[in-house]
Amino acid sequence: MQKSKCSKCGAKAVIFRDYEGVALCRGHFLRSIEKRVKKVVRKHGMIEPGDRIGVALSGGKDSAVALHLMNMIVGNRPDVSIIAISINEGIRGSRDLALKKSVELCKKLDIEQHTFSYKEEFGKSLDEKVKEMGLGKDDVCGLCGVSRRWILNKKARELKVTKLCFGMNLDDEAESIMMNYVRGDIPRACRLGPVTKYSTKRKGGDMFIPRIKPLRWIPEKEVGLYARLAGLPFRPKECKYRGGLRVDVEKALLDLEKKHVGLMFTVVNTFDRMLPGIKKTLDSKETAIKKCKICGEPGSHEVCKACELWR
Ligand code: SF4
Ligand code: ZN
Repeated sequence: MQKSKCSKCGAKAVIFRDYEGVALCRGHFLRSIEKRVKKVVRKHGMIEPGDRIGVALSGGKDSAVALHLMNMIVGNRPDVSIIAISINEGIRGSRDLALKKSVELCKKLDIEQHTFSYKEEFGKSLDEKVKEMGLGKDDVCGLCGVSRRWILNKKARELKVTKLCFGMNLDDEAESIMMNYVRGDIPRACRLGPVTKYSTKRKGGDMFIPRIKPLRWIPEKEVGLYARLAGLPFRPKECKYRGGLRVDVEKALLDLEKKHVGLMFTVVNTFDRMLPGIKKTLDSKETAIKKCKICGEPGSHEVCKACELWR
């Protein structure tokens, strides 16, 4: 097997996909990603007539590729519209640059962008909150993730978004599956999958905007390569707070993937086969969605997680 020449046309290869045993040149690589994502969008019915898609745009490679590809796939449809929603967490350094990149991308693609911040919504930036609470690296992402999801869901609803689109790639999804498994968090596992509208079926669940993840079967390395080769503006640097269990699980999965090629696909595909069974078991136990008595947002307790953390 020639790893340096494209298996399809013989031109110089930019990647060798060991899980498929093929090498691809720039053109064939870009097309193969576009084709795979289109197929995923169609197969899982991610887009329906009348949809207004809100792409969660962080300025990193994953969300940049998600926005670019969704725009390529449905940008010309008169019955579907796309907007970008960005969140300024208030992290000095890398995230400032990320936001700049997101503005650049929206201009390039001519997409309407809406930006919200932790400071406006919760009264403090993430940096200030971390300092105030003396949080260690292991706790920051948990707080930040809850806060971002709260803002995205609320603002998406206010902006009349019908689906929230996320740039989670194959590695992210495999990590999330393993993390829920390690933590024993079964209800949260129901929120994984290519299309997430589990909670919307419960009483009061229409407050949750369904989520779609079109990059769920693209390995992280390939999303990065696609972003670079397609010339998309994105921030290459990681957030300074990234840490905790996710990083350990990521390392372990990458090690396993090196030894057992295709393992991440297996983790995700096996989980998908189990998911309907997990949902069925939980369906009988799940109660109606509650409205937070402080902010009015949906959640499973009297006071939602975001209010518990910030107010
Ligand atoms: Fe927030 Fe963690 Fe992401 Fe940084 S890495 S933006 S702290 S979730
Ligand atoms: Zn609340």
